[in-house]
Amino acid sequence: MPDKKRLYVADAHCDTITRLTSLEMALGCLEAAEGHLDFPRLCQRVKLQFMAFFLHQATPEQAWQHLRRLRRNLQIAMELHGGLELLLDWRQAGCGRNTQLVLAVEGLDLLDNAFGFAAPTEELYRLGFRSLGLFWNNNNFLGCGADALGEADTGLTAAGCDFIRYAEKRGFLLDLAHASAKSFWQAAALLRQPIFVSHACCAVLCPHRRNLTDEQLRALGQSGGWLGVTLAPAFLRGSTAENAADLDDVVRHIQHAVNVAGAEAVGLGSDFDGVENLPKGIVGVQSWPRLADALTAAGFKADVVERLLGGNLLKFLRRHGSEITQ
Ligand SMILES: [Zn+2]
Repeated sequence: MPDKKRLYVADAHCDTITRLTSLEMALGCLEAAEGHLDFPRLCQRVKLQFMAFFLHQATPEQAWQHLRRLRRNLQIAMELHGGLELLLDWRQAGCGRNTQLVLAVEGLDLLDNAFGFAAPTEELYRLGFRSLGLFWNNNNFLGCGADALGEADTGLTAAGCDFIRYAEKRGFLLDLAHASAKSFWQAAALLRQPIFVSHACCAVLCPHRRNLTDEQLRALGQSGGWLGVTLAPAFLRGSTAENAADLDDVVRHIQHAVNVAGAEAVGLGSDFDGVENLPKGIVGVQSWPRLADALTAAGFKADVVERLLGGNLLKFLRRHGSEITQ
Protein backbone atom coordinates (compact mmCIF):
# COMPACT_ATOMS: atom_id res chain seq x y z
CA MET A 1 0.00 0.00 0.00
CA PRO A 2 1.62 3.30 -1.04
CA ASP A 3 1.91 6.05 1.56
CA LYS A 4 -0.98 8.33 0.58
CA LYS A 5 0.47 11.42 2.20
CA ARG A 6 3.52 11.02 0.01
CA LEU A 7 1.62 10.32 -3.20
CA TYR A 8 3.07 12.63 -5.83
CA VAL A 9 0.21 12.86 -8.27
CA ALA A 10 0.94 14.31 -11.70
CA ASP A 11 -1.91 14.75 -14.19
CA ALA A 12 -1.38 15.66 -17.85
CA HIS A 13 -4.82 17.05 -18.67
CA CYS A 14 -7.67 19.02 -17.16
CA ASP A 15 -10.04 21.61 -18.59
CA THR A 16 -10.42 23.68 -15.43
CA ILE A 17 -9.14 26.75 -17.28
CA THR A 18 -12.38 26.82 -19.29
CA ARG A 19 -14.09 27.85 -16.04
CA LEU A 20 -11.89 30.96 -15.79
CA THR A 21 -13.66 33.04 -18.43
CA SER A 22 -14.41 35.83 -15.94
CA LEU A 23 -12.43 37.10 -13.01
CA GLU A 24 -15.31 36.16 -10.78
CA MET A 25 -15.14 32.58 -11.96
CA ALA A 26 -11.37 32.57 -11.60
CA LEU A 27 -11.78 33.59 -8.00
CA GLY A 28 -14.18 30.66 -7.58
CA CYS A 29 -11.14 28.48 -8.24
CA LEU A 30 -9.78 29.58 -4.90
CA GLU A 31 -12.64 28.01 -3.00
CA ALA A 32 -12.95 24.35 -2.22
CA ALA A 33 -15.81 22.25 -3.61
CA GLU A 34 -15.96 24.04 -6.96
CA GLY A 35 -16.01 21.71 -9.99
CA HIS A 36 -13.72 18.67 -10.18
CA LEU A 37 -10.68 20.69 -9.25
CA ASP A 38 -9.91 23.90 -7.41
CA PHE A 39 -6.69 25.28 -6.09
CA PRO A 40 -7.03 24.31 -2.41
CA ARG A 41 -7.76 20.69 -3.32
CA LEU A 42 -5.14 20.73 -6.05
CA CYS A 43 -2.39 21.94 -3.71
CA GLN A 44 -3.28 19.26 -1.18
CA ARG A 45 -3.28 16.34 -3.56
CA VAL A 46 -1.30 17.08 -6.68
CA LYS A 47 2.34 17.86 -7.42
CA LEU A 48 2.02 18.74 -11.08
CA GLN A 49 -1.04 19.58 -13.15
CA PHE A 50 -1.31 20.31 -16.85
CA MET A 51 -3.82 23.11 -17.48
CA ALA A 52 -5.19 22.91 -21.03
CA PHE A 53 -6.45 26.02 -22.81
CA PHE A 54 -9.23 25.00 -25.17
CA LEU A 55 -9.27 27.71 -27.84
CA HIS A 56 -11.74 26.51 -30.44
CA GLN A 57 -13.18 29.88 -31.53
CA ALA A 58 -14.60 31.27 -34.78
CA THR A 59 -11.41 33.10 -35.78
CA PRO A 60 -7.75 33.06 -34.69
CA GLU A 61 -8.19 36.65 -33.40
CA GLN A 62 -11.00 35.53 -31.12
CA ALA A 63 -8.94 32.55 -30.00
CA TRP A 64 -6.06 34.88 -29.00
CA GLN A 65 -8.43 37.19 -27.13
CA HIS A 66 -9.88 34.23 -25.29
CA LEU A 67 -6.41 32.92 -24.48
CA ARG A 68 -5.25 36.24 -23.08
CA ARG A 69 -8.34 36.60 -20.91
CA LEU A 70 -7.95 33.09 -19.48
CA ARG A 71 -4.21 33.54 -18.98
CA ARG A 72 -4.71 36.82 -17.11
CA ASN A 73 -7.44 35.36 -14.88
CA LEU A 74 -5.26 32.35 -14.11
CA GLN A 75 -2.38 34.62 -13.14
CA ILE A 76 -4.56 36.60 -10.73
CA ALA A 77 -6.05 33.47 -9.17
CA MET A 78 -2.57 31.91 -8.79
CA GLU A 79 -1.16 35.00 -7.11
CA LEU A 80 -4.09 35.27 -4.73
CA HIS A 81 -3.92 31.63 -3.78
CA GLY A 82 -0.18 31.02 -3.43
CA GLY A 83 1.41 27.57 -3.34
CA LEU A 84 1.33 27.29 -7.13
CA GLU A 85 3.96 27.97 -9.75
CA LEU A 86 4.31 27.60 -13.49
CA LEU A 87 6.66 24.90 -14.72
CA LEU A 88 8.78 26.72 -17.29
CA ASP A 89 11.85 24.46 -17.34
CA TRP A 90 11.03 20.78 -17.76
CA ARG A 91 14.12 19.79 -15.79
CA GLN A 92 12.43 21.23 -12.67
CA ALA A 93 9.41 18.90 -12.92
CA GLY A 94 8.54 17.65 -9.44
CA CYS A 95 11.07 19.92 -7.69
CA GLY A 96 10.29 22.33 -4.88
CA ARG A 97 7.36 22.62 -2.49
CA ASN A 98 4.77 24.23 -4.75
CA THR A 99 2.25 22.53 -6.98
CA GLN A 100 3.46 23.04 -10.51
CA LEU A 101 1.16 24.01 -13.38
CA VAL A 102 2.04 23.23 -16.98
CA LEU A 103 0.27 25.51 -19.45
CA ALA A 104 -0.92 23.62 -22.52
CA VAL A 105 -2.90 24.46 -25.63
CA GLU A 106 -5.50 21.97 -26.82
CA GLY A 107 -5.84 22.52 -30.56
CA LEU A 108 -3.66 25.08 -32.30
CA ASP A 109 -6.49 26.68 -34.28
CA LEU A 110 -5.08 30.07 -33.30
CA LEU A 111 -2.08 29.65 -35.60
CA ASP A 112 -3.10 31.38 -38.78
CA ASN A 113 -1.64 30.28 -42.07
CA ALA A 114 -1.63 33.83 -43.41
CA PHE A 115 0.87 35.10 -40.87
CA GLY A 116 3.09 32.06 -40.45
CA PHE A 117 3.61 30.36 -37.12
CA ALA A 118 6.99 31.57 -35.81
CA ALA A 119 5.82 34.77 -34.11
CA PRO A 120 2.66 33.34 -32.52
CA THR A 121 4.57 30.28 -31.32
CA GLU A 122 7.14 32.56 -29.68
CA GLU A 123 4.29 34.46 -28.05
CA LEU A 124 2.89 31.21 -26.61
CA TYR A 125 6.33 30.43 -25.18
CA ARG A 126 6.60 33.92 -23.69
CA LEU A 127 3.17 33.51 -22.05
CA GLY A 128 4.44 30.37 -20.32
CA PHE A 129 3.00 27.65 -22.54
CA ARG A 130 5.21 24.57 -22.78
CA SER A 131 2.92 21.83 -24.14
CA LEU A 132 1.13 22.15 -27.45
CA GLY A 133 -1.62 19.82 -28.59
CA LEU A 134 -1.73 20.21 -32.36
CA PHE A 135 -5.40 19.37 -32.64
CA TRP A 136 -8.72 19.17 -30.99
CA ASN A 137 -11.19 16.98 -32.93
CA ASN A 138 -11.54 19.36 -35.90
CA ASN A 139 -9.07 19.87 -38.73
CA ASN A 140 -6.89 22.98 -38.66
CA PHE A 141 -4.11 24.35 -40.82
CA LEU A 142 -1.65 21.86 -39.29
CA GLY A 143 -3.71 18.87 -40.42
CA CYS A 144 -6.46 16.48 -39.34
CA GLY A 145 -7.93 16.01 -35.89
CA ALA A 146 -9.66 12.92 -34.54
CA ASP A 147 -12.97 13.55 -36.33
CA ALA A 148 -11.32 12.85 -39.70
CA LEU A 149 -11.87 9.16 -40.39
CA GLY A 150 -11.09 6.89 -43.35
CA GLU A 151 -10.61 8.73 -46.64
CA ALA A 152 -11.32 12.10 -45.01
CA ASP A 153 -8.16 11.66 -42.95
CA THR A 154 -5.43 13.34 -44.98
CA GLY A 155 -3.03 13.60 -42.04
CA LEU A 156 -0.65 16.52 -41.56
CA THR A 157 -0.36 19.42 -43.95
CA ALA A 158 3.08 20.59 -45.15
CA ALA A 159 2.72 23.45 -42.64
CA GLY A 160 1.97 20.89 -39.92
CA CYS A 161 5.23 19.07 -40.68
CA ASP A 162 7.18 22.36 -40.63
CA PHE A 163 5.49 23.35 -37.40
CA ILE A 164 6.46 20.11 -35.66
CA ARG A 165 10.13 20.62 -36.56
CA TYR A 166 10.02 24.26 -35.44
CA ALA A 167 8.15 23.78 -32.16
CA GLU A 168 10.27 20.81 -31.21
CA LYS A 169 13.47 22.82 -31.64
CA ARG A 170 11.95 25.53 -29.46
CA GLY A 171 11.56 23.02 -26.60
CA PHE A 172 7.82 22.50 -26.64
CA LEU A 173 6.34 19.18 -25.69
CA LEU A 174 4.03 18.19 -28.56
CA ASP A 175 0.85 16.40 -27.60
CA LEU A 176 -0.76 13.95 -30.05
CA ALA A 177 -4.05 13.52 -28.14
CA HIS A 178 -6.91 14.32 -30.57
CA ALA A 179 -4.74 13.71 -33.66
CA SER A 180 -6.34 11.65 -36.44
CA ALA A 181 -4.77 8.25 -37.09
CA LYS A 182 -2.82 9.52 -40.11
CA SER A 183 -1.67 12.69 -38.32
CA PHE A 184 -0.54 10.53 -35.40
CA TRP A 185 1.60 8.24 -37.55
CA GLN A 186 3.08 11.06 -39.63
CA ALA A 187 3.91 13.04 -36.50
CA ALA A 188 5.37 9.95 -34.82
CA ALA A 189 7.71 9.50 -37.80
CA LEU A 190 8.76 13.16 -37.78
CA LEU A 191 9.16 13.72 -34.05
CA ARG A 192 12.57 13.49 -32.48
CA GLN A 193 10.94 13.52 -29.02
CA PRO A 194 9.10 10.45 -27.72
CA ILE A 195 5.36 10.19 -28.44
CA PHE A 196 3.28 12.03 -25.84
CA VAL A 197 -0.51 11.62 -25.57
CA SER A 198 -1.93 13.59 -22.65
CA HIS A 199 -5.38 12.02 -22.44
CA ALA A 200 -6.77 8.91 -24.14
CA CYS A 201 -7.63 5.28 -23.40
CA CYS A 202 -7.18 1.91 -25.12
CA ALA A 203 -9.12 1.26 -28.35
CA VAL A 204 -9.07 -2.51 -27.96
CA LEU A 205 -11.13 -2.15 -24.75
CA CYS A 206 -13.38 0.64 -26.08
CA PRO A 207 -13.27 1.40 -29.83
CA HIS A 208 -13.59 5.20 -29.62
CA ARG A 209 -11.87 7.30 -32.31
CA ARG A 210 -9.92 9.14 -29.59
CA ASN A 211 -8.44 5.96 -28.10
CA LEU A 212 -5.10 4.45 -29.07
CA THR A 213 -4.86 1.14 -30.91
CA ASP A 214 -2.40 -1.45 -29.64
CA GLU A 215 -0.15 -0.57 -32.57
CA GLN A 216 -0.12 3.06 -31.42
CA LEU A 217 0.45 2.05 -27.79
CA ARG A 218 3.38 -0.13 -28.85
CA ALA A 219 4.94 2.66 -30.91
CA LEU A 220 4.47 5.07 -28.00
CA GLY A 221 6.17 2.66 -25.58
CA GLN A 222 9.02 1.90 -27.98
CA SER A 223 9.70 5.62 -28.47
CA GLY A 224 10.10 6.11 -24.72
CA GLY A 225 6.79 7.99 -24.73
CA TRP A 226 4.00 8.45 -22.25
CA LEU A 227 0.19 8.16 -22.21
CA GLY A 228 -2.20 9.74 -19.71
CA VAL A 229 -5.15 7.39 -19.23
CA THR A 230 -8.24 9.55 -19.03
CA LEU A 231 -11.35 9.37 -16.86
CA ALA A 232 -13.82 10.23 -19.64
CA PRO A 233 -16.55 7.53 -19.52
CA ALA A 234 -16.95 7.83 -23.30
CA PHE A 235 -13.40 6.55 -23.75
CA LEU A 236 -13.56 4.02 -20.92
CA ARG A 237 -16.94 2.45 -21.70
CA GLY A 238 -18.33 4.17 -24.82
CA SER A 239 -21.03 6.07 -22.89
CA THR A 240 -21.18 9.49 -21.27
CA ALA A 241 -24.10 8.53 -18.98
CA GLU A 242 -23.86 8.82 -15.25
CA ASN A 243 -22.32 5.70 -13.70
CA ALA A 244 -21.47 4.35 -17.17
CA ALA A 245 -17.93 3.67 -15.98
CA ASP A 246 -16.32 2.99 -12.62
CA LEU A 247 -12.89 2.76 -11.03
CA ASP A 248 -12.44 -0.81 -12.29
CA ASP A 249 -12.71 0.48 -15.88
CA VAL A 250 -9.91 2.98 -15.22
CA VAL A 251 -7.80 0.17 -13.76
CA ARG A 252 -8.52 -2.07 -16.79
CA HIS A 253 -7.39 0.61 -19.24
CA ILE A 254 -4.27 1.35 -17.18
CA GLN A 255 -3.50 -2.36 -16.97
CA HIS A 256 -3.84 -2.82 -20.73
CA ALA A 257 -1.75 0.26 -21.53
CA VAL A 258 0.94 -1.02 -19.14
CA ASN A 259 0.87 -4.45 -20.80
CA VAL A 260 1.28 -3.04 -24.31
CA ALA A 261 3.26 0.22 -23.88
CA GLY A 262 5.18 -0.65 -20.71
CA ALA A 263 4.93 0.20 -16.99
CA GLU A 264 7.04 3.36 -17.44
CA ALA A 265 4.88 4.72 -20.24
CA VAL A 266 1.57 5.18 -18.44
CA GLY A 267 0.04 7.69 -16.05
CA LEU A 268 -2.93 10.02 -15.63
CA GLY A 269 -4.64 12.51 -17.93
CA SER A 270 -7.84 13.07 -16.01
CA ASP A 271 -9.93 15.45 -18.17
CA PHE A 272 -11.28 16.97 -14.93
CA ASP A 273 -13.82 19.73 -15.69
CA GLY A 274 -13.84 18.54 -19.31
CA VAL A 275 -16.41 15.78 -18.81
CA GLU A 276 -19.82 16.01 -17.23
CA ASN A 277 -19.75 12.64 -15.51
CA LEU A 278 -16.76 10.97 -13.93
CA PRO A 279 -16.43 7.24 -13.32
CA LYS A 280 -18.30 6.04 -10.26
CA GLY A 281 -16.05 6.37 -7.23
CA ILE A 282 -14.30 9.51 -8.49
CA VAL A 283 -15.68 12.98 -7.72
CA GLY A 284 -12.63 15.12 -8.39
CA VAL A 285 -8.99 15.64 -7.64
CA GLN A 286 -9.48 14.46 -4.05
CA SER A 287 -10.29 10.96 -5.35
CA TRP A 288 -6.80 10.06 -6.60
CA PRO A 289 -6.08 8.02 -3.43
CA ARG A 290 -9.11 5.87 -4.28
CA LEU A 291 -7.57 5.08 -7.65
CA ALA A 292 -4.32 4.21 -5.86
CA ASP A 293 -6.31 1.80 -3.68
CA ALA A 294 -8.03 0.26 -6.72
CA LEU A 295 -4.69 -0.25 -8.48
CA THR A 296 -3.26 -1.83 -5.33
CA ALA A 297 -6.30 -4.12 -5.05
CA ALA A 298 -5.75 -5.12 -8.70
CA GLY A 299 -2.26 -6.36 -7.82
CA PHE A 300 0.01 -3.46 -8.73
CA LYS A 301 2.96 -3.11 -6.34
CA ALA A 302 3.28 0.08 -4.26
CA ASP A 303 6.23 1.47 -6.26
CA VAL A 304 4.38 0.87 -9.55
CA VAL A 305 1.24 2.59 -8.23
CA GLU A 306 3.36 5.61 -7.27
CA ARG A 307 4.87 5.71 -10.73
CA LEU A 308 1.48 5.41 -12.44
CA LEU A 309 0.00 8.21 -10.34
CA GLY A 310 2.84 10.63 -10.98
CA GLY A 311 6.40 9.29 -10.99
CA ASN A 312 6.36 8.21 -14.63
CA LEU A 313 5.17 11.60 -15.88
CA LEU A 314 7.67 13.56 -13.77
CA LYS A 315 10.49 11.35 -15.04
CA PHE A 316 9.29 11.65 -18.64
CA LEU A 317 9.16 15.47 -18.41
CA ARG A 318 12.59 15.76 -16.78
CA ARG A 319 14.07 13.53 -19.45
CA HIS A 320 12.42 15.65 -22.14
CA GLY A 321 13.97 18.72 -20.50
CA SER A 322 17.46 17.30 -20.46
CA GLU A 323 17.21 16.04 -24.05
CA ILE A 324 16.11 19.38 -25.49
CA THR A 325 18.93 21.26 -23.74
CA GLN A 326 21.66 18.96 -25.02
ZN1 LIG B 1 -9.43 16.73 -24.98
